[in-house]
This record gives sequence, C-alpha cells and structure tokens, in this order.
Amino acid sequence: MGRSNIRRQIAEVLADGKVSSALCRFANDYVASRERIYSGKNFLELREEISSAKQRAAGKMEVLAERFAEKLREKGAKVFFASSGHEARDYILRLASGRGVRTVVKSKSMASEEIHLNEYLQENGLEVVETDLGERIIQIYGQRPSHMVMPAIHLSRHEVAGIFSREGGEELPPDPGLLVKVARERLRQKFLSAGMGISGANIAVAETGTLIMVTNEGNGRLTTTLPPVHVVIVGLEKLVETMADAVPILEALPRSATAQAITSYVTFITGPAQGIDLEGNNIVKDMHVILLDNGRTRMSRDPVFKEALQCIRCASCLNVCPVYQQIGGHVFGHVYTGGIGAVLTAFFHGLEQSADIQSLCIGCERCKDFCPGKIDIPRLILELRKRVVEKEGLPFVPGFVLKKVLPARKLFHGSLRLASRIQGPFIDRKKGTVNLPPFLVGGLKNLPPLAGRPLRVRAAGGGGLSIRAAGRPKAGLFAGCLVDFVYPEIGQSVEKVLQSGGIGCVFIAGQTCCGYPARQMGDPGAMAVLARQNLSAMKQAGVDYIVTPCPTCTHALKNIYPSLLKQDSVYGPLAEETSARTYDFADFIYRQGYTKKGMLFKALGKKVAYHDSCHLKRSLGVAEQPRELLKMAGADLVEMKGADECCGFGGSYLLKYPEISGRILNKKLKNIIDS
Ligand code: SF4
Repeated sequence: MGRSNIRRQIAEVLADGKVSSALCRFANDYVASRERIYSGKNFLELREEISSAKQRAAGKMEVLAERFAEKLREKGAKVFFASSGHEARDYILRLASGRGVRTVVKSKSMASEEIHLNEYLQENGLEVVETDLGERIIQIYGQRPSHMVMPAIHLSRHEVAGIFSREGGEELPPDPGLLVKVARERLRQKFLSAGMGISGANIAVAETGTLIMVTNEGNGRLTTTLPPVHVVIVGLEKLVETMADAVPILEALPRSATAQAITSYVTFITGPAQGIDLEGNNIVKDMHVILLDNGRTRMSRDPVFKEALQCIRCASCLNVCPVYQQIGGHVFGHVYTGGIGAVLTAFFHGLEQSADIQSLCIGCERCKDFCPGKIDIPRLILELRKRVVEKEGLPFVPGFVLKKVLPARKLFHGSLRLASRIQGPFIDRKKGTVNLPPFLVGGLKNLPPLAGRPLRVRAAGGGGLSIRAAGRPKAGLFAGCLVDFVYPEIGQSVEKVLQSGGIGCVFIAGQTCCGYPARQMGDPGAMAVLARQNLSAMKQAGVDYIVTPCPTCTHALKNIYPSLLKQDSVYGPLAEETSARTYDFADFIYRQGYTKKGMLFKALGKKVAYHDSCHLKRSLGVAEQPRELLKMAGADLVEMKGADECCGFGGSYLLKYPEISGRILNKKLKNIIDS
C-alpha cells in the first residue's frame, strides 16, 4: 500500500468517525472487563507458560508438524503441507472439484483470509458462505474483517440491519436478537446443502493430533460435522507439543480476547467426524488438514521475529492500541492488523506490504503489558522499521536531518536558534502558538514556539538564570531538545528544586538530541552517533547523577544506550555506568526524600489529574512517585480515566500523522476534563 493510499484511507476513516467511536467505546469496557475476568489468575505466570510453550514449539516447528500429521493420519485424516497460500488454495479447489462441491460453508479462519481463499474459490465458480456472524455480515457487505476477533466491530446495529435487509429483500429493524435469528435461519439451509465445510483452529496439539477450536457460535461445529468434506486450514504457529501446553492458552485466549472465562464452545477434533447416514449406515466423513507455512518456518528461524510466533491471536494488543482505536483495521490492508499485524504481514505477504503500516505504531508500548503471548511488539516493530529502512532508505528530508544535521551539534542547535529568530511572522500572539506553512509541517497546527533564549544560553549566563553547581552531590541536567529549546523554564524549575534540596545542578554543556527519534524512524545507527556524543559530554561534566525532566531522554540514556552500544568496547561500559546514575527528575527527588523533607512544595489545594507518560510508566516504571509528590504538594489528586493511555505526541509521530495524534490527544483531554 502506497503512502498516499494509506493517508487517504486514514483521512476517510477519521472523517467518518464511526470506527473510532465504536472502538473507543469498546476499548473502555474491554479494559475493565478483562481486569475482572483475570482476577484470581496470575496473568504474568500464565503468559510465562504460554510463551515458553510457544517458544519450544517454534523451535521445532517442522518436527511437531510431522508428529501432528502422523497422529492425524492414524485417525484417518489426510494432511497436506502447503508451503504457500497458492498451494493451499489449489489443494482445496482440486478437492472441491473432485468431490463435485458447489457450495462451501466456512467458520472463522484467519489463515483462509490470509491466503484470500474466498476470492479464489468464487473466481472458480464455487459459492462460499461465511457462517460466523461477524464474518457473514462483512462478506455480504463486501468488506474485509477490521478486527482479528470481532470482524464487524466497526459496524453499528443499524448498519447490520441495513445489510441484512438488502440481502433478504425485507425491511428488518436494528434489533440484534432478531438479526441473529434471521442470520441463523438463512444460514441453516446453506449448512444442509454444502458439500464442504472449511474451518480454522486455535491450537494444534502434536502429541495427539488434536485440533482445538475456541468459538462463541455453534457455526463452528456445524461447519466441521455437517458437510461430507471437512477442510481445516491451520498455520504452523498454532502447533504446541502437548495437551498440557494447550491449557494455558485455553485459559488466556477467551479472557484476553473477549473477557470471558471460557467461550460457549471449545471443540476438540481428533480425526474425521463419524456419524450415521439417512439409511442408518455408519459413515466416516472426509477430513483434510492443511498445515500452512507461508512464511512461518522462515519466521521461526529469524532470531528476532520468531517471537511473533508466540501470538495466540487474541487481539488484546489491538483493543488497547491508541492508534487502532482511531483508525480501525482496514487501513492495515491485510487480515492481521495493529502492531503484530504489521509484523505478520511482513512475513506472510512480503516486507514491502508492511513498509507503510509499520509506521502507524506510535510506540506507546501499551500492547506489551496486555499480550498473553509475552511478545515485545514495540521491539519487533522497531526491528521491522529498521529492515524497511535498510531496504528502502529513509525519505530525503528525515534522512538528511538524521545523517547531516543531528550529528553536527552546532549546526543542529544553530538551526534551532535561527528558527527561533525568524518564527515571529508565524506566531499567533493570542494563542501563543506558531503556525508554520503546511509544506514545512504537513497538517500540524498550533505548535509551541521556540524559546527566544534556550536553556543552554540561560545556563551559560546569557541574560537569565545561571544553572550552576551550588553544592554536593552534583547532578548534571540533561534537558532534552524540548526543554532546552521550547520549554527552558522547566529546566530552570528543575534546577531550583534540586538546588533547594542541597543538590548541585549543572547543565551538561555538550549535550544534544538523545537520538530517540532516529531509532523510532528505523535508524538506530544514527542514534548511536548521538549516544556517543552525549556520553562523552556527560562524562566530561563529572557529575554524580544525571537528571532529566524528559521521560523519553531518560529511557534513552538509561535503557537504550547500554544495549545499543554493547558491542562498543569504549562506549559500551560508559553507557552502562551512565545508565546506573541516570534518573527521571520526579523519581530522583522522590528518592532523595523530598516528600519527607517537605522541600519547596507549596500547598496547591487544587484538584489535579495526573497523566502517566508512556515512557515514564512503562519503560521506567515510574508511576507512584509523581503522584506522591503531588499529594505532598497538597494537590487533591484524582485518577482520571485512561491515565496511562498515550497522549498522542509520540515524538516524530506527531509530524508524520498529526491527524491521528490530534484525535488521541482529544481523547486524553476529554478524560482530563471529565475527571
Ligand atoms: S500479539 Fe499478543 S496481544 Fe496481540 S493478538 Fe497476539 S497474543 Fe494477542
């Protein structure tokens, strides 16, 4: 999908607004219901069990596939290994032609969507009927699923009533109970006349040759037992070694997917269905299992991306993703959506198919906390981004900035100083914002203006406050670009607070951008260049601590530099040593006992809602400390809804997708107002 295409789709879906209102509504309920259903369960232990079972299975995928096939063949099923979607589709078409099948009923199968099975069979003259309610709705409507678990989540009951009314030629009211009844009646005839049923499976157990289906509708059992031929398409990543390995997945999947302790149906299939025909004869139905590779074994051999095979397709990561909540799933172009979808798409459909959709990740890392497969989705997205950049390069402007401007500190800072001098005509004095021409900043409006005197100038005594060491121990202030050049008064406040507690504070003179934006853009090499500059500057400052008011800079200095430079014999150890004495400002003064000493705080006496910065909470584990400090300052602290949800900023994301950032921010602002 080209960049302009993705932008057009985003614009359309945002303008429509229905998708985001449905998804945001669902997401709010989902988080609370999921929490309730997991109560009494140890989610962290459960996901350890799942990830270790899935890792083991991925490590011997081909062996398990053979074992699974052998067990199923013993039971009378035929097993076909399909290396690609093309092979799987051809096998099914040949089978249908050989059996004289005209109508196929299907229960929900993402693997079949992945290989575009419906289109292929229909092009070859077969009638294909989806029987999962959500899938059926979008099939009639001519759409693709927008969500991995709830394919029609983006449609309202009024829209569904319209779809069923047009299909049947009768006016139906938007009554969900009635619509389900109508769908059931219309589908019953299809089940009875179908020559083939196609299903997927959630788990495939190698030791017994058992397929497990987790469903909420009876269509799965009808599809797998009524027609004379049953075809199962199962991706190789669904394999687990033993039945015991399947248990934690069965516990987590319904809880994470739909906040249920168990779904209405959990079906175990070990071999073909048996029954009695109309004449009373015993019959054994024809069962074919297609083990689909389509990039999965390649993924299992990839040192980074094999982690994605731990996915159990619960869609939790989508439900809590702030970007997905705004744009839904269709923008992602293929059946697997959200962050994990971008990764899977790269392997199942090719890296170029993921080139645009991977850029939709804002990097808030919320998905990581919810994933029952213990997948570090943000880390995989960054690796994907890096591989896209290695293959395709960066666009000219960001590439020039990363390679030529940022590493030359004086040029970079000089450009910002120059920009602060010439921004005057673009400043809206009333609002105190700057509105630059669209060719410079796309759709970005109301940017904060650059400060006339950045913090580094003030620190050097340039007509303002001088930040200096006034005592011991000594903290080096790593301001970060925003505090340095846009909000220098924050840096001055930090200095005041530190000095008041008897801690000397010096501005680290040689500091530059922490490099985090370069990493986010897929160029960790450019970040490494800046990391070395900053580490040298911090070493030269000779301070006891590094303190920063910017959570992203803290995350970079503390967590990313050591791993980024671990192969560097000079800077690797320096990064480790610097990391150990780097602190977020609030965390630092909390640790220094400011709350006990009652330093500098004045009673605010106001109602305050605290927003958890994504990096501060999730990457640095700092959440309680700022709250304690606020309470100490006399604030009436109230917890707002979604306190730890992304604010939409995302660094360079704001420049790339301001339309999405703005919507996420609006949600946050509403939560603040509502608090
Ligand atoms: S990546 Fe994790 S949260 Fe997302 S669908 Fe897979 S298992 Fe669920």
